[in-house]
Amino acid sequence: MTKVRYENDIQTEVLKDKKIAVVGYGSQGHAHALNLRESGYDVVVGLRPGKSQQKAEEDGFDVHSVAEAVSQADVVMVLLPDEHQTAVYTESIKSNLQPGNAIAFAHGFNIHFSQIVPPEDVDVFLVAPKGPGHLVRRTYEGGAGVPALFGVYQDVTGNAAELALAYAQGIGAARAGVLETTFQEETETDLFGEQAVLCGGLTSLIKAGFETLTEAGYQPEVAYFECLHEMKLIVDLIYEGGLENMRYSISDTAQWGDFASGPRIVDEDTKARMKEVLTDIQTGEFAKGWILENQANRPKFNAINKKENNHQIEKVGKELRELMPFVKQPLQAKQSKQK
Ligand code: NAD
Ligand code: MG
Ligand code: MG
Ligand code: MG
Ligand code: MG
Ligand code: MG
Repeated sequence: MTKVRYENDIQTEVLKDKKIAVVGYGSQGHAHALNLRESGYDVVVGLRPGKSQQKAEEDGFDVHSVAEAVSQADVVMVLLPDEHQTAVYTESIKSNLQPGNAIAFAHGFNIHFSQIVPPEDVDVFLVAPKGPGHLVRRTYEGGAGVPALFGVYQDVTGNAAELALAYAQGIGAARAGVLETTFQEETETDLFGEQAVLCGGLTSLIKAGFETLTEAGYQPEVAYFECLHEMKLIVDLIYEGGLENMRYSISDTAQWGDFASGPRIVDEDTKARMKEVLTDIQTGEFAKGWILENQANRPKFNAINKKENNHQIEKVGKELRELMPFVKQPLQAKQSKQK
């Protein structure tokens, strides 16, 4: 089994007298900055003027331009949207890094796909929490943490791994466990997971089930409950105790249906297509498409997004959720982005 590190396995001295710039104050940024400060670290926030800036100032941070924050800091954590990192790096980060500084990321995309090529005289590491930023913050406040992956791309000081681990400890991740990875593994598995299973696979499965029932003449409201609403209840059971725990809870009829029909839905052909998706990720084909799509101001992304938001399941869902106020707990509503 791979080694999982906890608080007692980690030396934090290496980060203690360093200044940390958190660049970006969104989902991950606010959580890292607040948790690190409460763990006793010296944190500045780097941002462009706007809504996030106001929020960071209200939270009591010294907020500077990205260039200024980077020049003050020893460790720079880049928590901008992945699509904007390259431009901000080129314009405001690169020339303000000093030899022996460290630059860090919460996702390996831009380093792995060479959109950012860091100077050779800085450490480069990754601390990727395996959960949305608002959970990284909320669990820390509750005395716990969200597990994280850490990895080193470039180690010039000889301390890059220790720095990454101390950072992971600072955001609370070592309370839950920290696992070692590489930029390549984190990037490729993260992209595959969200495309094939968590986001792409799941939304397509839900919609196909919903459409099959409604096209056969069943009520959309009933189809919504069966194919979407109940998903969370099932996933919670799997999260708590694996597939076995879920199957223990459901009726034996449901379990027999799982065994008899599940493999007819997701079969060897599906798996072969999953392998194609993985190949596109590994070869950089997916990255290239996404980078070009952004350069063209997202024509396809926006068109598909509009169409998806008008799907019947979204309209029915909106009406039904109005009748179920318990579904929308305030915090969950804000945790919009599990990426
Ligand atoms: P986000 O969109 O929530 O926040 C981005 C922040 O960057 C905002 O504060 C925004 O104001 C600021 N920003 C945007 N453009 C800027 C610019 N040009 N100059 C200065 N500031 C700018 O982003 P996020 O979801 O927190 O993602 C940050 C990183 O964390 C990404 O690498 C992402 O892959 C990674 N990550 C995110 C999650 C998650 O739960 N959202 C989970 C794991 C890893
Ligand atoms: Mg992920
Ligand atoms: Mg049922
Ligand atoms: Mg059972
Ligand atoms: Mg989004
Ligand atoms: Mg992702």
